Amino acid sequence: MEVKNCRKCGKMFNYVSGPQVCPACKEVAEKKFQEVKEYVREHKTASITQICEDCGVENKQVQQWVREERLVFADDSPVKLSCELCGAQIRTGRYCDKCKKETANNISAAGKRPEAPVSRDRRESSSHKMHTFHNG
Ligand SMILES: [Zn+2]
Ligand SMILES: [Zn+2]
Repeated sequence: MEVKNCRKCGKMFNYVSGPQVCPACKEVAEKKFQEVKEYVREHKTASITQICEDCGVENKQVQQWVREERLVFADDSPVKLSCELCGAQIRTGRYCDKCKKETANNISAAGKRPEAPVSRDRRESSSHKMHTFHNG
C-alpha cells in the first residue's frame, strides 16, 4: 500500500488509484458535484462564472467535471464549449462525437501499419469486384 499526501488538504492517506485526493476530500468533491449538477439542471442558462459563484466551486473544478463528461450543459446554456480538434460546438467533454469516433479509430489503428495506397491500375480488380461470402 502506498501512502501519499492529499493534494487538497495535505493529509496522508492510503493511495489506491485515481486522483491523489484523500477519501474525505473525495467525498466533499462528490457532494459538491451533485450540488453543481443539480444547480445546472435548475439554472439552465447559468454561465460557468455564475455556477462557481453560487455553488462556491472553482472554475477549474467545473471544467474538470466537464472534461470528464460528468457535467452536461443544456441546449440553451450560454456556456459554449468547443471541440478541441475541430472547434464544433459541444455540450460536454473535450471533443465532438465525430472527433471522438475518429480519435477512437486512430487509437485502435495505431498498432497496425498504415495501408499502402492502392495504385490506379490495381483498383479495378480489387475493390470493384468484391464478392461477399455467406457462411452456412
Ligand atoms: Zn484531503
Ligand atoms: Zn470535433
